[in-house]
Amino acid sequence: MPELIMPAEIVKNLRAAYDCGLTRPLNWRRSQLRQMQRMLKENEAAWLAALAADLRKPATEGWATDIGTIDSEIEALHRKLGRWAEPRRLPVPIRLGLGKAKVVPEPLGVVLVIAPWNYPIHLLLLPMAFALGAGNAVVGKPSELAPATSALMARLVPRYFDERAVAIVEGGPEETTSLLAERWDHILYTGNGRVGRIVMEAAAKHLTPVTLELGGKSPAIVDRDTDLDATARRITWGKFLNAGQSCLAPDYVLVHRDAEEALLARLTQAVRDFYGADPHQSPDYARIVNDRHLARLSRLLDDVDPARIVTGGQFDAGDRYLAPTIVRNASWDEAMMADEIFGPILPVIAVADVDEAIEVVNAHPKPLAVYVFTSRPGVADRVVERTSSGGVCVNGTVLQIATPGLPFGGVGSSGMGAYHGQYGFETFSHLKGVLDRATWFDPWFTYPPYDGLKSRILRRLF
Ligand code: NAD
Repeated sequence: MPELIMPAEIVKNLRAAYDCGLTRPLNWRRSQLRQMQRMLKENEAAWLAALAADLRKPATEGWATDIGTIDSEIEALHRKLGRWAEPRRLPVPIRLGLGKAKVVPEPLGVVLVIAPWNYPIHLLLLPMAFALGAGNAVVGKPSELAPATSALMARLVPRYFDERAVAIVEGGPEETTSLLAERWDHILYTGNGRVGRIVMEAAAKHLTPVTLELGGKSPAIVDRDTDLDATARRITWGKFLNAGQSCLAPDYVLVHRDAEEALLARLTQAVRDFYGADPHQSPDYARIVNDRHLARLSRLLDDVDPARIVTGGQFDAGDRYLAPTIVRNASWDEAMMADEIFGPILPVIAVADVDEAIEVVNAHPKPLAVYVFTSRPGVADRVVERTSSGGVCVNGTVLQIATPGLPFGGVGSSGMGAYHGQYGFETFSHLKGVLDRATWFDPWFTYPPYDGLKSRILRRLF
C-alpha cells in the first residue's frame, strides 16, 4: 500500500531546501548523480527482479534498456555538467554601448517527474537525473502499474539521495492528482496523451511549464530496395522488445508492394530466430503488464480474419502472454489502426511507393518516431524532410533514444519538449540572459531629447 502522502508538506520541505541553496553547488549535483549510479549498480539484482515481477522483463533486455542506457547518460551528464552549467558569453554590438553579455543557466526550483510502467526505472530516474544535474529539487512519481519497481524505488531512493531535496511519492491517479494540485516549477510527464492533457491543465493553473513525453503510432516505411534481412531483424527487435510495450516501437509497417511478400517471410523468420518456435517458452520475451491491457490487445485481434495473421495470435491469459503477432493487409478502419497498439501486434500495409507512405504518415497525427528502411540514395532524406515526428531512425528502430547527444521528445500529439544530453540539462534550467554595461562609455546621442543629428547617428548604428 502506498503510504499516505501529504504533497503540500513534501513540496514545502523541498522548496525550503531549494531556497536555501542546497541544490545549487555543482558538487552537490554531481554527488547525487553518483549516488544514482551507485543505487543502480549496487542493487542490480533487485532491480532486475522487480522488472521481472512487473513485466517478466528478460534480464538482458531489462539491464540494457532500464539500467545500462541511463547509466551512460548519467555518466555523460556528470562529465559535461561543469561545461553546461557555465555561463556562455556572447558578443555585444557597439550600438548597445560597451558591455558583456552572457547566458546564465539557472535551476528552476522544485520539479515533478511522473513516470509510466513500461520502462519504470529508466523513465523515472533519467528525468530525475537531469533535474538534479540542473540544480533542482525533485519529486519522482513511479507508476502504480509497475508495483514491484515502484516499491523498490520508494525503498532505495531515500537511502541513496539527499532526502532534503529528493523524494519519491508512490500511488496512482488519486495521489498524482493531489501532487498536481501543488505549484511546481516544472513537470515532466511520460505516458499517454489523455493523462498528458490532465497534467497540462493542472500545470496551467500555476503557469508551470511542462514537458510531455507521449506516444503515438510510429510507422516503419520499407522501400523496395533495402537489405530485407537486416530490415526484418531490426523491425522485429524494436517491435517485440518488452512485448511491444515501448513508446518507440514501430507501431505498423508501410511496405513497398513489391517487397511485401519477402518482408513478411523474413519478419516471420526473425520472430522464430529470436524467440523460437514457441515464443511462450522463450526466456527473452516479456509479458503484458496487466489483465486490462491483455484484454485490450486481444480485442484488437477480435475481428481479424485468421488468414491475415502471418504469425502469432496466441494468448495465455493466465500468464499475460500474447505471442509476437504479425497481421497483413491491415486497414485504417480496423481497431488496431485507430490508436497506438502498445503491444506485440504488428500490422503491415502495402503501399505503391515511398511517396504514398509519406502521404499516409502525414494524414495522421505526428508520431514519436518515423523509421525508414532503404538502400536508395535520397529516399531517407526525403522522408526526414517531408514527415514530422519526434525523431527518425534510418535503417533501424528505437536506438535513436540511446544515441548520445540526440534530443529525445515528441512533437504535436506525441509530446512537447525534449531531454537527453544538453537538451535534458536545459529542459530543467532557465536560460537567463544577462547584459552587463560599462558606465564609462555612455554616448550622449542615445538619450532624449532627440534631434536630427542623434536620430541620424542612431539609424546608422542599428
Ligand atoms: P501509466 O498508466 O503508468 O501512466 C503514466 C503515469 O500517469 C503514472 O505515473 C500514473 O500514475 C499517472 N496517471 C494515470 N492516470 C492518471 C490520472 N487520471 N491523473 C493523473 N495521473 C495519472 O502509463 P501509460 O500512460 O499507460 O503509458 C503508456 C503510454 O506512454 C504510451 O502511449 C506510450 O507511448 C507512452 N510512453 C511515452 C514515452 C516517451 O518517452 N515519449 C515513454 C514510454 C511510454
